[in-house]
Formats: sequence, structure tokens, C-alpha cells
Amino acid sequence: MSQDHYKDKLSPEAYAVCRLAATERPFTGKYNDHWLEGNYHCACCERPLFSSATKFNAGCGWPSFYDCLDDNVAYLEDLTHNMVRVEIQCKHCDSHLGHVFDDGPAPTGKRYCVNSLSLVFEQEL
Ligand SMILES: [Zn+2]
Repeated sequence: MSQDHYKDKLSPEAYAVCRLAATERPFTGKYNDHWLEGNYHCACCERPLFSSATKFNAGCGWPSFYDCLDDNVAYLEDLTHNMVRVEIQCKHCDSHLGHVFDDGPAPTGKRYCVNSLSLVFEQEL
């Protein structure tokens, strides 16, 4: 799938995050303080990535999860900004999601820190 395809599908803000790995400003995303039950899907390919059951309030200003769904997330070493971080991407379409850190709650100890613009929520009915 070409990048142009995503330009049609995404807002300019979402395109910058998903396809160019920008980061939305903290506390501005629509899912930061969002607690309905359902799944968060990839904004680009619509595969389910995270469940509300693993969402928690990390206080960092971005939606945070302690686990991801199935095997839909890829992990890449990110050495930008003079830091060693682990970038997370959608495994199916390479969309940038955010980063994963080792300071999350039990049972995983992981904090998946995700841009709201990378996600589309589907409520469980
Ligand atoms: Zn995707």
C-alpha cells in the first residue's frame, strides 16, 4: 500500500503520527481520558491492537495499556532523540503507534504508550 493511500484515509495530523512517526502533544488525544469498553484498532488498517481491559491511567498524557492484542504489534529499536527506546508499530501496515516502556503495572510490567491518532475505538455492544 502506498503512502498516498493513507493520505486519503487519514487526517493530516493522523498521517503525521501514523506514517511519519510524529508524536501528538500529551493530554490532547481523544483517547487519553477515555474509559469505554471495547477495542482500539489501527487507524490505518483497522486491525484490533489494544483492549480497554488493559488500559490504565499512566498520567503521562497518552493512552496507556499494559498489554496488546494478539500478535498485531511489532517492536523496533528507536535511537532518536538521544534515547534508547522501543518503538511500537502495527505489524500489518507499519503504522507508528508509540513506544513501550518497562514501567507499567502488573501482570506484564509494560506500558504501551500510544498516540490517540494512531487508534480508532470500537465500542463493545
Ligand atoms: Zn495497521
